[in-house]
Amino acid sequence: MSEPSARPESDDLATFIAGLPKAEIHVHHVGSASPRIVAELAARHPGTVPSDLDALREFYRFRDFAHFVEVYLAVVDLIREPEDVRLLTFEVAREMAAQNVRYAELTLTPYTSVLAGVPIEAFVDAVEDARVAAERDLGITLRWVYDIPGEFGLPAAEATVGYALEHAPDSLIGFGLGGPEIGVDRPQFRDVFARARAAGLRSVPHAGETTGPQTIWDALEHLGAERIGHGTSAVQDPRLVEHLVEHQIPLEVCPTSNIATRAVASLEEHPIRQMHDAGVFVTINSDDPPMFGTTLTREYEIAAGLLDLDEAGVADLATNTVRASFLPDDGKAELAGEISGYLAAWQERER
Ligand SMILES: [Zn+2]
Repeated sequence: MSEPSARPESDDLATFIAGLPKAEIHVHHVGSASPRIVAELAARHPGTVPSDLDALREFYRFRDFAHFVEVYLAVVDLIREPEDVRLLTFEVAREMAAQNVRYAELTLTPYTSVLAGVPIEAFVDAVEDARVAAERDLGITLRWVYDIPGEFGLPAAEATVGYALEHAPDSLIGFGLGGPEIGVDRPQFRDVFARARAAGLRSVPHAGETTGPQTIWDALEHLGAERIGHGTSAVQDPRLVEHLVEHQIPLEVCPTSNIATRAVASLEEHPIRQMHDAGVFVTINSDDPPMFGTTLTREYEIAAGLLDLDEAGVADLATNTVRASFLPDDGKAELAGEISGYLAAWQERER
């Protein structure tokens, strides 16, 4: 048995992955701000963060989780006005579109923007303006997930569900819960999730990233989770694995993020192989890509290495994300058809 490798077997596979039409369902708004985007924001708000691209690339060189938090908060501090929100959203869409991402469910945290002084109405206008422009100019469809920053507890949860119920843009489809898991138990958010779900929003909390399988059970039982953000610790509980397989509940797996946050010690020890072999519904995502020094394309390369996938296997994995998405059936069929068409054209050329 060969050691799993983090690199794809061939340059050809990397080329295939780069051109592959993709969807992404676990990616954060602020966490997707690249050095290029931050340079633009920093130029708008001179002072705390360098606007020189080389200096920013150095600032972004991933060191450890504490450094990630430092970068994240520095970016949060640059998002002060509706125009900052619009710019960030459109430019994040541009970087996804450049990787052939056709559809993304992007997690927004309106609570922190409102805290920074952007009124919720202006926040909604800014992201919607960027969404419409991105669809028109970049050919990428965006939908929103509002997430509760768990570290702010119930007041943030109440505020976030209020924004979701009273100021929701049409393109809001999901309701999530992020931030730390330790000390932030899931059941306390039961009522808030019930209200969001009653309004038609889909439940997509993070769970089992930095805590054990019980948090995943809690997310399923108390928050009505339809997908699990990360779910890394699921493999520690055979009964949970069985449940996830039986009900085909998708896990939003983000390999590099799990290493960066030390949820998993190394890529070689990542449980994705175990999940995949057990029949768990696995999807590949990038979480906070530039801050963890990755891209969605790179995450597929890593997954291909860890799961020993060829082009057809990678296409299947990409189709999983489409199936796990909240696109309507015709949208799913269209994107899945684009993926299978791309694979067929590739195999034809290889012949
Ligand atoms: Zn996340």
